[in-house]
Amino acid sequence: MKKKLRFNTATIHGGQSPDLAYGAVMTPIYQTSTYAQSSPGDHKGFEYSRTHNPTRSALERSIASIENGHHGLTYASGLAAMDAVMKLFSPGDEIISTHDLYGGSYRLFTKIFENYGLKFHFVDMQDPNHVAEYVNENTKLIWVETPTNPMMNIIDIRRMATLAKAKNVLLAVDNTFASPYLQQPLDLGADIVMHSATKFIAGHSDVVLGLLVVNDDELQEKLAFIQNASGAIPGPMDSFLTLRGIKTLHVRMQRHSENGAVIANYLKQHSKIEKVYWPGFESHPNHQIAKNQMNDFGGMISFIPKGGGHATAIKIIEKMEVFTLAESLGGVESLAGHPASMTHASIPREERKKSGVVDGLIRLSVGIEDSQDLIEDLEQAIG
Ligand SMILES: *Cc1c(COP(=O)(O)O)cnc(C)c1O
Repeated sequence: MKKKLRFNTATIHGGQSPDLAYGAVMTPIYQTSTYAQSSPGDHKGFEYSRTHNPTRSALERSIASIENGHHGLTYASGLAAMDAVMKLFSPGDEIISTHDLYGGSYRLFTKIFENYGLKFHFVDMQDPNHVAEYVNENTKLIWVETPTNPMMNIIDIRRMATLAKAKNVLLAVDNTFASPYLQQPLDLGADIVMHSATKFIAGHSDVVLGLLVVNDDELQEKLAFIQNASGAIPGPMDSFLTLRGIKTLHVRMQRHSENGAVIANYLKQHSKIEKVYWPGFESHPNHQIAKNQMNDFGGMISFIPKGGGHATAIKIIEKMEVFTLAESLGGVESLAGHPASMTHASIPREERKKSGVVDGLIRLSVGIEDSQDLIEDLEQAIG
């Protein structure tokens, strides 16, 4: 299809065409490691499935289409996608990262790549001038996560892109929390978009997979080389599940956002709730930036119950019945988590507290169920 498709059409048709063999409308699961050649080197574009696989290629075209990018790349997980980005760099190179980021990202940076000589600065990015102070001649990348996990801070992607361009460094955005339905970082000036497709993109809590999208051909070549040379690729079945998930991304995200607004407002007026973090509130410190760069505010919410301690938070979470206590987010079902002891346990307590991840904090991934059932569940759990 040559025509540029609108988002709600691109999720279904972007980069897709009926299968060449029999016209299958859904991309088949090409569960094969290798491809017949008629003579050495004479093949139909596929040689070995670490390098290319037709199901994976369909997914790479799909994600590129919905992120408004030229090239998509797939990985075995979100962290494998980040691992590939870090392998673009060499010992002595410096990276400036959001300070309240996904715990696994922090662990990858500090426990793996610091050992290979990369240097990381974890910086509060709400003031872009503050970020500029950390740029020097060794700086190669600015890594942004927005909205941040779990504090729901919003970082101004356009301003970070301006800074990155001025200093000649790359800008990568972890777009996992927003999904391209809510925000398209390449259009805002980013060089690399990264997804844990495990979350909203695949959307059904049935697959672990990572994605990158870039515009630059040279960057795509380097990343494809790393993808093949390091080999952290997803299998055809997981690629298929993710591709299938993307077809309903726009419908799911619309409902996630509607339910998110209902739950956030319910929690805000509750007498037993101390604080609610959600970028849709006018009182949110970065609400205006969120309005400028996002199409809606999504269903990720964090809150602190009154009295705010570890025990209160655990008691509430344990009482929930419709919300499931689990790691992860972005699926059709509502999940609740306790960042201090779950997703963010790999960040030292003092570091955690500095960015607001206190022991009483509860994080909700609001699903697409009937919002009244979700409210009634929270009502009985909060008591
Ligand atoms: C889950 C997550 C990751 C890691 O992705 P995996 O698919 O679990 O490897 C990275 N960033 C964010 C924001 C996440 O939520």
